[in-house]
Amino acid sequence: MMAYKILILGGTTEARELAARLAGEPRYETKLSLAGRTARPAGQPVPVRVGGFGGAEGLAAHLAGKGIDLLVDATHPFAARISANAAEAARVTKVPLLALRRPGWERGKLDRWTEADTVAAAVVALGERTRRVLVTLGRQELAPLRAHPHHFYLIRSVDPVDPPLDLPDAQYLLARGPFGEDDERRLLIDHRIDAILSKNSGGAATYGKIAAARGLGIEVVMVRRPPKPVVPTVGTVDEAVAEIAHRAASGKNRGV
Ligand code: NAP
Repeated sequence: MMAYKILILGGTTEARELAARLAGEPRYETKLSLAGRTARPAGQPVPVRVGGFGGAEGLAAHLAGKGIDLLVDATHPFAARISANAAEAARVTKVPLLALRRPGWERGKLDRWTEADTVAAAVVALGERTRRVLVTLGRQELAPLRAHPHHFYLIRSVDPVDPPLDLPDAQYLLARGPFGEDDERRLLIDHRIDAILSKNSGGAATYGKIAAARGLGIEVVMVRRPPKPVVPTVGTVDEAVAEIAHRAASGKNRGV
């Protein structure tokens, strides 16, 4: 029997976990696609391809050329372009698409959140007074900080920010999650942080800072998620595994 060919658009913990769950199943042939942003990505449990496809058109050509049966969009909630491309490529090729999107974090009663639609608006929301800010935005999105040089920024990223930003008071921290609440509390206290700049990424791996901020009464300036296309979606890896098994078994591999 021909294996059911799955292409996972990844770059997230969930994509890696899903790939690991599918890896041992001979009925599936799974490949993981990474954009290639991280210099030394974590080891992956299935074969990997790296780099852009060349827009929706390129992705459509890839799906058709490789005979993909199911496209899984397990990219980060803030990776808006690739998700739009995935929806368009699936529409054109009629290859079914399943999105795996972790739910966003919800503001609790004790949380001090200020929400903003963009990183630029979030930096403005830090205000005129000098703050001590933990920045966890990812190194591609730091440019708006330069227009607000009056804060101290502790900038955490997986890969080095190179060249460093032209900022008078910035410190860099290299670290890869998951980050536990106790370690995050220690970091916030040690650096006398009074605001956190974060995206609403969702998921457990980076929630520690949000929980720690709540306990310490620290403000979180939270960037809201960009809109994503409306497509069949699951919220967890377990749901994705079940949905994929169902689709593969029922042979609904075209035109869903
Ligand atoms: P994006 O703005 O949505 O995508 C920009 C371009 O990068 C896409 O048009 C595509 O190029 C290429 N691309 C993105 N994801 C890809 C993938 N999985 N495989 C192959 N090509 C991909 O994405 P982004 O925000 O730069 O994020 C890039 C990657 O980092 C994604 O895989 C995402 O899951 C991961 N990530 C992003 C964030 C974040 O906050 N944005 C956080 C953690 C991880 P072509 O048009 O040439 O195909």
